[in-house]
Amino acid sequence: MTIVTRFDLLKHRRTKIVATVGPSSRSPAQVRALIQAGVDVFRVNMSHGKHSEHAAAIAVIREQAAALGTYTAILADLCGPKIRTGKFPDGPVTLVRDEAVTVTVRDVPGSASLIPSQYAGLAEDVRPGDRILLNDGAAELTVLTVTGTEVQCRVVQGGPIGDHKGINLPGVNVSAPSLTAKDIEDAHFALGQQVDFIALSFVRTAADVESLRAVIESSDARPWIIAKIEKPEALENSVEILQVADGIMVARGDLGVELPPEQVPLAQAQLVNTARLYDKPVIVATQMLESMISAARPTRAEVTDVSNAVASGADAVMLSGETAVGAFAVETVEIMSRIIRQTESYQFHTRPSGAQAHTGGHGHLSAGDAVASAAAQLVVDISARAVVLISSRGMTASTICAARPDAPVIAISADPLICRRLQLLWGAIPIYDQSAGAAHPNAVARQVAQQLGLAASGQFIVLVRGFHADPEINSPSITLLAL
Ligand code: PEP
Repeated sequence: MTIVTRFDLLKHRRTKIVATVGPSSRSPAQVRALIQAGVDVFRVNMSHGKHSEHAAAIAVIREQAAALGTYTAILADLCGPKIRTGKFPDGPVTLVRDEAVTVTVRDVPGSASLIPSQYAGLAEDVRPGDRILLNDGAAELTVLTVTGTEVQCRVVQGGPIGDHKGINLPGVNVSAPSLTAKDIEDAHFALGQQVDFIALSFVRTAADVESLRAVIESSDARPWIIAKIEKPEALENSVEILQVADGIMVARGDLGVELPPEQVPLAQAQLVNTARLYDKPVIVATQMLESMISAARPTRAEVTDVSNAVASGADAVMLSGETAVGAFAVETVEIMSRIIRQTESYQFHTRPSGAQAHTGGHGHLSAGDAVASAAAQLVVDISARAVVLISSRGMTASTICAARPDAPVIAISADPLICRRLQLLWGAIPIYDQSAGAAHPNAVARQVAQQLGLAASGQFIVLVRGFHADPEINSPSITLLAL
């Protein structure tokens, strides 16, 4: 048997790269280098920093994207009800196995025997026998008794703890709302900045997404909502969440604390498949190339993790600390881009394209999904050079991209906001064209395909059009255009 490991890299990368902004990636030169290395979407993490710092970073990204002629998008990530410890004025402490420790909701200095929690409802939510995980699971407590504001515990696993470290309560029904007062303030800031995506952390139900939607609808901005799946409840409710969100993120950091770690790969696989069934973009996040925070080369296991996420059909892969605080931010994006292109070029020769959409219990696809699947098949059957569409809201593009056609998806829009939003979709190449929606779609599609040099005379492009959310107007169709 010959194992073929090398194919020529595809010209266009299909899987998108999301990179978190931080001290390592805020200067104009660094942002420029990161865009050139392949960042499609920058994540601004509202868990850290001030609004003035985020506004400055957003201005730099916009300025550099404009200078490079790219539609680099911005995702604001709201912290949600992340529970954190208070302060340890004498520095970090180490909890020791089997020792007694109290978690308090009083605002007191922390020590090895008293851990302040910033979440006031903690003492009301936990019961004897519940687990309390600290510092991303580095230390674990079991609850013995609860008296008023104090939760008496025993240390099950010792470990380090310090200021503002995460507290996870797996299996506990946390009564804090998913959209906190800080989130609402941060959402208004993000809306004022006209960001393209707002991600919500610790989503539990579809209603959590709806409450963010209500805040968005009170403004003029219309960012897509990305629901972060990082709690077991969200996994259980993932179909309902996908129906109301515009996309999801597999937030493996907290998911891996809330769930036994061996369940995370399976949850990831299920979430990627389910998102594709519902034509919604899915981002796989956290620790993808973690060792590159301080090393110039990734581990082989990390490379395999990125490659597997790509092969499983994720729309995007995300970098966190690697680009926010890492010493090799640009190199990390370059390597991620190479892993993606190598995996995709292998897949190009081996994987079937076509829709995996859900049949809504009717035993058949929706008209849009059927047309998307047919367009993907046509690309194969007549070696079409591109699937072209004109997008006014992004719906046609997300339906077509979910069918993962082999040819590039050229998504033309007269709205720069839509061009940026499409950056998150697998395979989408957003093209801004003022005449989109005004001139005849055939003419616009031909002109863009010619300008991009996508097809030579006599070759075909596939134009898809007529998608609409209103079933009375929805009339998806395919036109084959020979150049
Ligand atoms: C995660 O937990 O994996 C995640 C992406 O969220 P954050 O980086 O905000 O903790």
